[in-house]
Amino acid sequence: MAEFETVIIGGTIIDGLRTPRFTADIGIKGGRVAYIGRLQPHEGDEVIDASGLIVAPGFVDVHTHYDGQIFWDPYCTMSGWHGITSVVVGNCGFSFAPVRPEMRDRAMLMLSRTEAIELEALQAGMPWDWVTFPEYLDSLDRQAKGVNVTSYCGVSPLMMWVMGLEAGKGRTATDDEIEQMCVLLDEALEAGACGWSAQWAGNDSGQRDYDGTSMLSDLMSVEQAHGFSEVLARRRTGLTQINGHGANRPFTETWARHEKLAEISGRPVLHNVVEFFTDQQGNAVGNYRETIEWLNACKRSSSVSTLAMVSAKSLSSGVNQSDGWLSRGGGTGTDAGSFSWTSARKALNQAARSTVCGRSSAVGVPGSL
Ligand SMILES: [Zn+2]
Repeated sequence: MAEFETVIIGGTIIDGLRTPRFTADIGIKGGRVAYIGRLQPHEGDEVIDASGLIVAPGFVDVHTHYDGQIFWDPYCTMSGWHGITSVVVGNCGFSFAPVRPEMRDRAMLMLSRTEAIELEALQAGMPWDWVTFPEYLDSLDRQAKGVNVTSYCGVSPLMMWVMGLEAGKGRTATDDEIEQMCVLLDEALEAGACGWSAQWAGNDSGQRDYDGTSMLSDLMSVEQAHGFSEVLARRRTGLTQINGHGANRPFTETWARHEKLAEISGRPVLHNVVEFFTDQQGNAVGNYRETIEWLNACKRSSSVSTLAMVSAKSLSSGVNQSDGWLSRGGGTGTDAGSFSWTSARKALNQAARSTVCGRSSAVGVPGSL
């Protein structure tokens, strides 16, 4: 038996640590990279010739809505086709657990408008062999998958479960209801959820429910959000994903809200989203520079950990301006002719440097917010 299960010979390695690319061989033992250097083919039970190919870690797509699709498309097309090996679902407060059987259609309808996933496709493709969040993760475990997957616990299902749809859209949660939701979140984290998520943009949120009303999580009270952050603090685990800018709210107010969640939880907040646009001279349009300044201020603070996600939607605006995504998503529009790749790349690099943990900003899929 050879020393390594697999050796990958002659590939060009890009290690994901910003090391310049280099040519080397890789030895895999126990399912993990055990050696990077010079190896001979006889040192592996299996030999992969990677000459002329890039050898790189898989990418993590941290913002997806494959919650339904993963059940009929194990590679999560298109992500799987583009080198992504891990996806995160349950973003923006949308997830499919916990959901009582009689509310399944209503939960699916929430994704039908904003995420443009047909109800009929979801009905046909989802097994719905769960009710609670832990049961949902068990179902995902049973599913044959071509990618790794983890899920946030979305706020909208928690509100629908505890308050009901009508009350959730009509009033804020009582202290007792917040406590009940915190118990459910705690249960979800215990089962393996990576944190909690919400679209938290208020009544004027650009991304509406299928019937034109606000999403449940848009109407979450500050007290409710702080309650969830306290759960993360107690458990010392998980992160918060917030897509949270209302059309009529100053950006500074949104940033302050997100900072507070990071302070209370002591855990990272993933702020969605930095969108950058430039005019034809490369001058900034919109507020991405101010957002990056805020992120840098968070980075200097010892108590606030805030990461940012950069929208690929704005990166790709030069080519998909005509499809209506910018106006539908509430983003700041710009003429197709004014898009500058050079400026966009600079802004992306700037944003990546502004992340507190030194991790690169997320890669999103156009239209997946
Ligand atoms: Zn989203």
